Amino acid sequence: MSTAKPRAERAAEARVAATRIEAEGVDGVIVSWVDNAGVTRVKTVPVRGLESAARWGVGAAPCFDAFLVDDSLAPSGGPAGDLRLVPDLAGLHRLAAQPGWAWAPGDRWTQQGEPHPGCQRHFARRTADALADLGLVVRAGIEVEWIVDGGGSGPAYGMRRLIGNSDYLRDLLRALREQELTVLQLHPEYTEGQYELSVAPTGPVEAADTALLVRHTVQAVSLRHGLRASFAPVTDPGGVGNGGHLHLSLWRDGRNLGHGGTGPHGLTREAEAFLAGVLAELPALLALGAPSVASYLRLAPGRWSGPYRCWGLENREAALRLITGSAPEQANAEIKCFDAAANPYLAVGGVLAAGLAGLGGALRLPAETTGDPEGAAERLPATLDQAVDALRKSEVLRAAMGEPLWRAVLDVREAEAERFAGLGPEEVAAAVRYRY
Ligand code: GLU
Ligand code: MG
Repeated sequence: MSTAKPRAERAAEARVAATRIEAEGVDGVIVSWVDNAGVTRVKTVPVRGLESAARWGVGAAPCFDAFLVDDSLAPSGGPAGDLRLVPDLAGLHRLAAQPGWAWAPGDRWTQQGEPHPGCQRHFARRTADALADLGLVVRAGIEVEWIVDGGGSGPAYGMRRLIGNSDYLRDLLRALREQELTVLQLHPEYTEGQYELSVAPTGPVEAADTALLVRHTVQAVSLRHGLRASFAPVTDPGGVGNGGHLHLSLWRDGRNLGHGGTGPHGLTREAEAFLAGVLAELPALLALGAPSVASYLRLAPGRWSGPYRCWGLENREAALRLITGSAPEQANAEIKCFDAAANPYLAVGGVLAAGLAGLGGALRLPAETTGDPEGAAERLPATLDQAVDALRKSEVLRAAMGEPLWRAVLDVREAEAERFAGLGPEEVAAAVRYRY
């Protein structure tokens, strides 16, 4: 999936797509990108404007790179300049729960036709391409958890919870099927009003796109049922929050490298090195995957959010949970410490970059943590400030992200930490509850 095609080719594809979706009842096309704070921002064009949008892009101010979760700006955000937001037609979907609308993820380009160095989606693709240059392919999927305020009262994972929101959840499955997304599972989660949905693995950039599409669909279906969905890391700071776990597996020549090797639990040397690279960078990666002050209200022991810097087979308290599955193709690793405040392109790009560094250094995994990591493994950063400090020191992420993106993310994190300083947990949770 890419917008890096000649303008004329993009325009020709858009002409065909626009004719098709107009006949299917689409009036408007939403093009979205996610800012460094993790908020999805949009521009829209009428369906007959899609061709021009694909050819030239639509205007998007560079100051969005400095936006915070509350729409204020980090000091680096200025009023000047413009970028071109180009819809990626490979990700174009008609939105089942927003009749008359279609959606496509966007890449941001300069007016001169260069990739915008601050574009998070370009970053994610660059890292996937770097793996492809080594003959490696990543398959990824992001689990979506959310909390709705109403209906479905009952025990965790309980049937009562499903019955209470039965029509709502059916409509959600239907909408996702109509959008041709493959849902693997949907179930009531631990917290009152909480649900989780997982989708089939895809390429890494597509997995980030899909996470957005799932979240937008959940939001739209929720509203149709008079519910409001929160994807925030916590809604009740004392309780179990919403994760955004990233599952991934590494493949070469159609073979899953997480299976049949000589490393721990059948990992091949390459898969082990990749995961060891992720573990090495995990404190810094948190600044990408758990980017909000609220993220650290979730990342506490005993909530299966993976707050420890360790790995373990099927260990739900470890940040890196290894899953062997029942069939070779199912083996994968789950990064549990991430949440949905994350810009999924930054999270995916960062993890792939860390994995590449692990491959480059032929790193080995430390000893496995079995059972409760409390007392046996290091805690991950417990505040946003600590995670930001790790990102500031990470040469791996700095080099992979490039100076402008790395700097912009640090600016936003520092400004957001400052903005939320002095607020109590309830106030922090309330401030971000309906932002992501
Ligand atoms: N809700 C938990 C979290 O915050 C995850 C529960 C699970 O293992 O699915 O990550
Ligand atoms: Mg879950």
